[in-house]
Amino acid sequence: LLSVRHLSKSYGGRRVLDAIDLDVAEHEVVALIGPSGSGKSTLLRCLNLQEDLDDGQIVLDGRDISDPRVNPDVARRSMGVVFQAFNLFPHMTVLDNITLASRVVHGVARADAEEQAHALLGRVGLADKAAAYPDRLSGGQQQRVAIARALAHRPRLLLFDEITSALDPELVGEVLALVRDLAAAGSTIVMATHEMGFAKQVADQVCFLDEGRLIEQGPPARVLGDPGHPRTRQFLSRII
Ligand code: ATP
Ligand code: MG
Repeated sequence: LLSVRHLSKSYGGRRVLDAIDLDVAEHEVVALIGPSGSGKSTLLRCLNLQEDLDDGQIVLDGRDISDPRVNPDVARRSMGVVFQAFNLFPHMTVLDNITLASRVVHGVARADAEEQAHALLGRVGLADKAAAYPDRLSGGQQQRVAIARALAHRPRLLLFDEITSALDPELVGEVLALVRDLAAAGSTIVMATHEMGFAKQVADQVCFLDEGRLIEQGPPARVLGDPGHPRTRQFLSRII
């Protein structure tokens, strides 16, 4: 589904992504792990075309979306993105947060968008929160709404950047359970995470990034259980 070739990105002459190659099959869950500053968020932003690439190619569904002739707004419609925090518009209800893009960007009629939003809220376990404002929800509930919103335009690819790391520990589980449901339902997901236990259980591939280089990738049992690279071993020994 997604094929990244030789992707490189620098900020002010400093290379933060160095020739990344990554293939993601449909229905696959890929966990990006690595130390702070290793480039996980930058990679996700590049995949979402929020950054100009210095070099390389991003092919999604057989189309080179990194081609400058491609309209990034159009390419982004095949992706659903959730970040660490501050995902929702505080002055809008949960329902409006979810339907806004469908109505404004995709031109879906309000009644249809709202019907779909109610279905999505049911799916994320928040059927009774449609009229609530985000500040009345727990952090875990807010992230579940953000995921529902990311699903609203039926993306081909979900990009999650540390979506549980701003949450109180007791709220992490409910969000991870939802990601697990999405994975089981066949979503294709690339997620930066430091939840190693979760990566081990749910990811099909784990990619270890270090100083902008993808230095190890493979099934979680190998990358997390028996890493081949000393940097991976060092990283894992510090966090587990
Ligand atoms: P964390 O685990 O802390 O979220 P990360 O792996 O997501 O880290 P990135 O946020 O991708 O790391 O950052 C990679 C490097 O790029 C860091 O050195 C960071 O300082 C730098 N960087 C990121 N965004 C910018 C920017 N907009 N301008 C300049 N440098 C940036
Ligand atoms: Mg990050």
